[in-house]
Amino acid sequence: MQIETEGILINIQPFSERDAIAHIFTRDNGVLVGMLRGGTVARKNKPLVGQVGSVSWNARLDSQLGVFHWEAEKNLAVPMMMNNDLLNIMNAVFALIYTLVPERESYENLYLRTFDLLRGVANCENPFDLYLGWELGLLKDLGYALDLTKCSGCGKTSDLIYLSPKTGRAVCADCGEPYRDKLYKLPLTLSVTKRFITGICNMQNVDVPNARKIF
Ligand SMILES: [Zn+2]
Repeated sequence: MQIETEGILINIQPFSERDAIAHIFTRDNGVLVGMLRGGTVARKNKPLVGQVGSVSWNARLDSQLGVFHWEAEKNLAVPMMMNNDLLNIMNAVFALIYTLVPERESYENLYLRTFDLLRGVANCENPFDLYLGWELGLLKDLGYALDLTKCSGCGKTSDLIYLSPKTGRAVCADCGEPYRDKLYKLPLTLSVTKRFITGICNMQNVDVPNARKIF
């Protein structure tokens, strides 16, 4: 099996003295895992997390660990290197994809939004707002969309001040009043989306990535 597409290098770990195991989030085929030969010792063209480039991935059998050929075109992490907030955002994005997005399933919208986030976050006034939007998209793509457009009780679109932890749907002030202690408060914050992410991690039996725990 051979795949040729473009992607973002989201994780790389030494496998042996020379080789590395990489996770590349691709536009057409979702997350691919494979070996980068010489990836641990490369001096020139060293593979680095945050690079975007063209990738080919080969596996003789579907069950085998594939082998990558990786041509980095640009490192999207470079504008973030001097800013801890931006680095934390990038690390959270990569850790969540690494942890929650299944291998070899296409998530093209998520790929495009991730690419836009990484390209735009360094020049944006409120990077955490941009990140929150990305996380809402992630929840949606994983099948846990939050609905903030109308009250799940009566359908009205104003006075939406609560969010139900169970359904992920907004609740208006009147409908929510009897349950106010059990509902999350709107507007949405990263501590609320973190609770939904924690719920998904629990269902999948994986730990919430450390990179997402810090905000
Ligand atoms: Zn209502």
